[in-house]
Amino acid sequence: MYDIIIIGAGPAGLSAGLYASRLGAKTLILEKLTPGGQITLSSEIENYPGICEVKSGLELMSCWPQQAMKFGAEIKSEEVKKLKIENGKWKVETSNNEYTSKAIIVATGANPKKAGFEGEIKYTGKGVSYCAVCDGFFYKGKNVVVIGGGDTALEEALYLSKIAQKVYLIHRRDKFRAAPLTQKKVFNTQNIEIIYNESVKKVFGNEFLEGIILSSGKEIKIDGVFVFVGMKINNELIKDLVKLNEWGEVKVDLNMQTSLKGLYAVGDIRQNAVKQVVAAAGDGAIAAINAVKYMEKGE
Ligand code: NAP
Repeated sequence: MYDIIIIGAGPAGLSAGLYASRLGAKTLILEKLTPGGQITLSSEIENYPGICEVKSGLELMSCWPQQAMKFGAEIKSEEVKKLKIENGKWKVETSNNEYTSKAIIVATGANPKKAGFEGEIKYTGKGVSYCAVCDGFFYKGKNVVVIGGGDTALEEALYLSKIAQKVYLIHRRDKFRAAPLTQKKVFNTQNIEIIYNESVKKVFGNEFLEGIILSSGKEIKIDGVFVFVGMKINNELIKDLVKLNEWGEVKVDLNMQTSLKGLYAVGDIRQNAVKQVVAAAGDGAIAAINAVKYMEKGE
């Protein structure tokens, strides 16, 4: 029997594991892939506080599992299949085992959807990005493309318009689904050029991306492509247990507590996540501290 089981070993889960085990809780972290999370796919991180030289996501995350294990957290490579509560105890079923705990912290994240153009995977991190806050700075004074017509695409196009020289906003239809006020701001922004009824067919370049070819065959030389065509929130394990917002994100309070006592949600799976490593790590610490308090009260 564990005190706390953490599901997911990205920055949020590993930070929760570090804090929980250091506070003396018997802690298990379960991860279906390699510990580190999505950020390990990023080639350059320069906005994690305290890290003065640019690091890859893999380098940044390399010692997080070790640090959590130093205080006693166990990390196992197992995919969680089911989560349920029975007589006040959590039961966690994986492909090969069943574990029990007094509290659960879910840190299973969210994944940006792919747009599906040729070269999207090849140039991810070399010109194709899914995060304007993370990568926008690299395109200072350059020309970029934003794909999508929802709130995220238009809000990020506005953000990028303050950094890049020019933003092409490419949408597959002739109407945006973003909020009218956001659309108005986009229409009034000089350096955003909207291209309706088009999609990116292919990106090309050498080591780094140099341009795109649209479905009409038109070619545009650009330095970066930002894809905002929706997110997949990894809420499958708890979607029937807790309250979600209209986009499937888990509702939490300031303690990272979900609508169910003893169940916490941290990082990109939770509502209002800013999808940054520093914020995910903060969530993990908050949840672990509060989960330990919850356990000690023995509620
Ligand atoms: P979204 O609303 O689902 O929009 C996705 C956009 O991408 C749509 O315009 C869609 O086109 C387009 N798209 C989908 N697949 C594509 C593909 N393969 N190629 C090209 N375009 C593609 O996603 P989101 O903008 O990430 O927003 C998700 C939810 O969060 C929404 O409910 C949104 O309102 C909410 N949100 C709210 C705020 C806010 O309130 N400030 C901010 C961000 C997000 P179609 O329009 O043709 O389907």
